[in-house]
Amino acid sequence: MESRIPVETELIERIGWLIRLRWLAVLGTGAAIFLMWLWYPDELPFLPLIGVTAIIALYNTQFFFYARALRLGYSGTLRLRHAIQFAYVQIVLDLLALTALIYFSGGVENPIAVFYVFHTIIASILLSRRVSFLMGTLGVLLFAAVAVLEYTGILPHHHLPIMGAFEPYQELPYVLTTVGVLAITVWLVAYMTSSISVRLRARDRELVESSRDILAKSQELEAANRRLRRVDAERTRFMTLVTHELRAPISTIHTCAEVALAENTSPEAVRDILRRIKRRTGELVELIGDLLRLTRAREEASREEEIGLTQPAEVLESVVELMQTEAHSKDLFLSMDIDPSLVPVRANPERLKLVWTNLLSNAIKYTEPGGIVSVALKQANDHLVATVRDTGIGIPPEDQERIFEEFYRASNARMSCPVGTGVGLAIVQRIIENYGGEIWVESELGLGSKFTFVLPTALT
Ligand code: ADP
Repeated sequence: MESRIPVETELIERIGWLIRLRWLAVLGTGAAIFLMWLWYPDELPFLPLIGVTAIIALYNTQFFFYARALRLGYSGTLRLRHAIQFAYVQIVLDLLALTALIYFSGGVENPIAVFYVFHTIIASILLSRRVSFLMGTLGVLLFAAVAVLEYTGILPHHHLPIMGAFEPYQELPYVLTTVGVLAITVWLVAYMTSSISVRLRARDRELVESSRDILAKSQELEAANRRLRRVDAERTRFMTLVTHELRAPISTIHTCAEVALAENTSPEAVRDILRRIKRRTGELVELIGDLLRLTRAREEASREEEIGLTQPAEVLESVVELMQTEAHSKDLFLSMDIDPSLVPVRANPERLKLVWTNLLSNAIKYTEPGGIVSVALKQANDHLVATVRDTGIGIPPEDQERIFEEFYRASNARMSCPVGTGVGLAIVQRIIENYGGEIWVESELGLGSKFTFVLPTALT
């Protein structure tokens, strides 16, 4: 069905081709009329013949401007409809003009009657197989009408001088044979050319579709590439940060050890140096712990997992219990609110634990002592809605979109807590989306953040 008409741009291009072809036809007809006038100046009605040729030239000029407007103007289905109507008008006018030329130059005697074939071919190229048959038949009917009207004497006959004394327009067998042969030729041509056009058109359409596909794919690739480049830049920044973070305490420790080893260092000073060494190594242990957690989390997230029915409340309670110590040691108040009507979710409990641990440890990490961290679990229709709120440093609006990207850390987080990897939230998002859920953040700088995630609950 789709391949019966050509694609819009192609149709418009071919209309241009038809108009160029018509200029050639005008020139050819003009030349033929001129030659006939030279050889047989009194034997044909030259005025009507020139008149018809002039009319063709006139309407072709109009067509030229309309085709240009069509090409430049607008696009879409309206343009396609106009282009199709335009093609119809052109072919019908050409058929009428050809019939007039044939009539004024011998009628059935004129061999240019075969030119009706051209319109059949043009219709099959420009439009559909049906229209090709229709236009071919219209040509045959017009030709037959001329033959009948001349045969019955209703229209005067203009003899074609090149036929000499042979004047067969009144020979019924000749008239019938000529019209019959023309009809068969036109229909056969309509059948053959439209079979080829339909096939070519189907291929055209495939090509257009596949080039559209390729364009979409290349845009996807481009976006993926940009994402990768961004992750890579963040990764490099992260590596530099880690190296720097490792180097600074190690060189301090090294210098401290040198001072402690110096002969004139008092035992009191040595104790002080050892205290500094202890603090620095503590920081190092913390950083290395973070890196280890990161590696484990990434391994965990990429491992094959067993998905079963999990009670979200149980998982959350176990995580909050573990986190209480951390919250207390930072003088934070950690509260929990669980909806009693919770339905289990289809998830792996370990992964869910990872999600809660990451969100809660962030809330604790980015909240100043004295602040509040609260977690809540609610049932909303067929979804579990989980929130983690804090009264911490918040996230600048421009960073909120990007904090779920690997290695990305907001500027204020980097200042308030230099040790961090920027990977936790990327892992959390991957896990949640893997279960068909979604996670987002709402935050106000300096006032706090609220992370919300939803997960579809298991059907009971
Ligand atoms: P990390 O905490 O190791 O930097 P995450 O991936 O867990 O990495 O978090 C990414 C970034 O999101 C953090 O660096 C921080 O800028 C921001 N962020 C996450 N949680 C919070 C929070 N509760 N409050 C403020 N900022 C947060």
